[in-house]
Amino acid sequence: MSVADDAISAHGGGELVDLKAMPAERDALARHATTLTSVTLGARELADLEMLASGAFSPLTGFMGEADYVRSRDAMRLESGTPWPIPITLGVEENQARALAAGRDVALVDETGRRLAILKVSEIYRVDRQREAEAVFGTGDADHPGVKNVVTTPAFCLAGRVVLLGEIPGRTFLEYRLEPRQTRAAFAARGWKKIVAFQTRNPTHRAHEYIQKAALEICDGLLLHPLVGETKGDDVPAAVRMETYKILLDLYYPKDRAMLSVMPAYMRYGGPREAILHAIVRRNYGCTHFIVGRDHAGVGNYYGSYDAQKIFERFAPQEMGITPLMFENTFFCRACGAMASYKTCPHGDEDRLILSGTKVREMLRAGQSPPPEFTRPEIAAILVRAMRNGS
Ligand SMILES: [Zn+2]
Repeated sequence: MSVADDAISAHGGGELVDLKAMPAERDALARHATTLTSVTLGARELADLEMLASGAFSPLTGFMGEADYVRSRDAMRLESGTPWPIPITLGVEENQARALAAGRDVALVDETGRRLAILKVSEIYRVDRQREAEAVFGTGDADHPGVKNVVTTPAFCLAGRVVLLGEIPGRTFLEYRLEPRQTRAAFAARGWKKIVAFQTRNPTHRAHEYIQKAALEICDGLLLHPLVGETKGDDVPAAVRMETYKILLDLYYPKDRAMLSVMPAYMRYGGPREAILHAIVRRNYGCTHFIVGRDHAGVGNYYGSYDAQKIFERFAPQEMGITPLMFENTFFCRACGAMASYKTCPHGDEDRLILSGTKVREMLRAGQSPPPEFTRPEIAAILVRAMRNGS
């Protein structure tokens, strides 16, 4: 059986999008790129470019045009009706937008000027970033890190299909950076049919491990899929998190049932809407199930604990094409003598080991390991060391 036969379809029902230049045309395109006006991408746009080029953002074939932009902002769908909860745009300054025209090619370059991709400009349009932020994040508050990113993005958008010319420089964790075609092939090679993805931007504590393993009880394999694009400054750095994931999988997960790979996307802190995006992207990576915990992709107190779970009711299961698995907060309960949740434990909070994120950070900073029922000692050691080294 071929990989294609075995794999679920990409989001939107079609094939995975592939926006990489064919080897035979790469040199000619690279020469063409040197003749073009360049548009510089920052870290977030580079992450979007990588997600687009690899097919992780299928069915998108480039930065969005106005019709897709408006409908995704206002109705969480593309113009075609396919679910898509967050606009993916390339913002440029007004003077640059005015100097360009639809129908032209531009070179997308990184901050060192290296030409990475060609964008065939199909449309140039202007948007209201404040309105976009309020629609996507449910708030216009500039203290919200996602809002801050959006409202500081220029209002003019360049839309169009992109072709990636080669590797994106500065990519990290290459050994673990599998693209959607590669994760699909890896699942097929392992014989997995039901694959559950776990999105994370945090170190894995016992509560996360419990949820992953509960899901693994009904699936063939687990894709531990940390996001390694830009996060806000007080999140644990990706390099430290990767150490914790590796040791956890090594010591506590069956080798033939769990896999670690990284996702290049950046964190938008879009709460419910980002939960939908995270699920769609995991479908593209070949997963059939997706774990949604409490306050998924949330930040501060902007979202209700269950908002990111409830939002899935707005889409028909077949149009999402990936099954969300909703989980409650979990904890170790001394009376149960086990990990449990509000769904399974009849005892009171006095029996439950519940520590806030703030409290855990305080302990780690003081060189103190959280109790082993909260964090595996091997993980705690890595986090204490990282805190001591000031990361
Ligand atoms: Zn209990």
